[in-house]
This record gives sequence, structure tokens and C-alpha cells, in this order.
Amino acid sequence: MKSFAIGHRCPRNRWLVVSQLVELVALDSRLVPASLTPDSPSSRTTSSAPAPSTTGSVTILDGGMGKFLRRIGAPFRQPEWSALALIESPDHVVDAHTQFIDAGAQVIITNNYAVVPYHLGDDRFAADGANLIELSGRLARQAAGTAGVVLVGGSLPPLFGSYEPDLYDADRAPGMYALIVQQLDRYVDVWIAETLSLVAELDVIVAAIREHGSGQPIWASFSLPDTYDGQIALRSGDTIDDIIDVVTEHADVVEAVMFNCALPEQMTPAINELAEKVATSKLDVRIGGYANGFPHARQPEYAANNTIFERRPDLDAASYAEIVAGWVEAGATIIGGCCDMYPEDIAALATRFSSRLSTFDPRESGLFGAT
Ligand SMILES: [Zn+2]
Repeated sequence: MKSFAIGHRCPRNRWLVVSQLVELVALDSRLVPASLTPDSPSSRTTSSAPAPSTTGSVTILDGGMGKFLRRIGAPFRQPEWSALALIESPDHVVDAHTQFIDAGAQVIITNNYAVVPYHLGDDRFAADGANLIELSGRLARQAAGTAGVVLVGGSLPPLFGSYEPDLYDADRAPGMYALIVQQLDRYVDVWIAETLSLVAELDVIVAAIREHGSGQPIWASFSLPDTYDGQIALRSGDTIDDIIDVVTEHADVVEAVMFNCALPEQMTPAINELAEKVATSKLDVRIGGYANGFPHARQPEYAANNTIFERRPDLDAASYAEIVAGWVEAGATIIGGCCDMYPEDIAALATRFSSRLSTFDPRESGLFGAT
């Protein structure tokens, strides 16, 4: 386990808080990197190799914000999806984060997933995108800070549509990811690149984080199609071998590889294959997954972008936890829920794995340069 820090209670000056923690940790001087000062946030990006990762402990992510915001009465519609609450009712965003934390989430993800041109349109993204992304980070930190030991994951979403690798614009992506990183950096303990359909997206995201981030580790999460044509692959055709290759290239900063926003049943064979290939490679990464609750037959095409589906009736919190237990058996240690997964689903995971939960020892934190 490498990336955990005590939840920051001072949202605008994380390094003040970190320096205070260093004073505590300094009781055991071998655990304090000499380079860590408020002006030198982390040595992680320049370290030669990550620390051994697995202690067997499990980290609980939150669930999907969009549909949960709708459930608690926030303004919600397409095409803005979860961004509408940021624009019209930020208090609902804090409330949603807080309810996931109360359910047992140890990492909450900033609510900027839909603050992208695909959902807001080019003009509104250009005008308001930066401020909304910053707001999403501030609200997540507000919620995490009041709850104690909770990490904030900064969302790096697909920019041109979920499940739409053909719409990926390699010319526009670098500037947009740079903007997201710049706006969220001060609030974020870990970066979560999510719902990726192309390994090329991860390349651009890593470059943006290297240039504009403060050394936080990256958890890279890929979406999967409903069906596989022969071998397990992303919608772009990129395979798990391709994922292994790109993560190997960025092994100094990528701390976890996950799958998300896919049918939980489809994620099981993918996690199994990923775990096998991580084990046979020299990669030292954690494995994880957070599936959605979309109906089978309606998932394949563009569900997250154009339509609002209801939770599939054949999946409840207990049956989801049962599926997730298979991932944990295969080696996954980061688990949660994506779209249409709610606090009760997260609570079921937190309960089921209560004896194995991560403890967020700051001495093991990537933020403390424990490499
Ligand atoms: Zn999702």
C-alpha cells in the first residue's frame, strides 16, 4: 500500500497539513524522506521503483455521483449529467460525497466527470469549465475534510464521450487534461483516470500530471464493453497486454490499474486476466474495479452520454458484493461502484471487507515519498 495520507482538514494548503504530519511521523525518522518539505511535495515521480504494494488490505471507493445526485433531489438531466448539480446546487454535491463517506467510502472522487465538452458543449466548457472543475475539487475536499480519514481522488474522465474511443481528439486532449490537473491539484491525494477506452488517453493524462501535478500517484481505470469478441479488449480494441505495456512505461507514477463503468460480470474475467499478467510482469501495481448498475441489454451504446437508465433490477447490494468478492479473491484491493451504484452498495462492500480495510497509515503514503 503506497498512496494513503491522512485526510486533509485544511483544503487550501495541503502541504501545511503534510508538514504537520511529518512532525508526527518524524518520531520514526527512518520513515521520513529527507526531501519532503512543504516546497518539495513528493519524490514519487522521480523515484526509481514503487514500494511493494500488497498487504492484502482493501480500499473502498465511493459510488456513482450522477444518479445518486438525482436520487437526493439535485438538479439532474442530460446532457449535463452530474455537472448540473455543480452549476446549480453545490450543496447537493457535498451531501452526496458525505453520504458515500458515511457508507464507508475511503476515497471519494471529485464530481467533474461531466465537466467536459461532450456534456457541457464547447462554449460552456470554455467559459465555465475551469471554475467548475476547481469547485468540484473544493467540494470533495470539504466533504473529506469534515469526515476525517478520507482521500480525495481527482477524476480524469474521457473528454469526448464515455465509451466513444472513435471521438477521441488527440490534438485537443493534452490542453484539456492539463487544465483539469491544474484546477484539481491542490485538492487531490490521488489521481483517478477513469472510464478510459484507449491506452493512448493514459499517456496524455500521465504527461499532464507529470507537468502540472504535485506528485500524487495515478490510478488508471479502463472501461470494458458488454461483450468480448474472442479476447478481452477495450472498446478501442486495446488489450490487457496493451494496458500492461503503457502502465509499465509509467510505472513510476501509476500505482493501480482498474476497470470501471462496465457490467460487473464482464469485469470478472478482465480482472482475472489483469491479475495474472501483473503477476507475471515486473509491475508493482494494485488492482481494482468499480462496476456500474446499468441494464445488460441497454448498456452497449453510449448509455452514459445520452440516456438516463434505471438500475438493473437483478443486481442488489448483496449480489454485487458477491461478485466483487471474486475480484478480491483474484487480487483486487481497490473496490467501489460506478454509475447506478449507491451508498447501500458501498456499505455492503465496507461491511463485507471490514476486517481487511486499509488503515491509511501516512508513513506508507506515496505523498510521503515512501518508495
Ligand atoms: Zn460509470
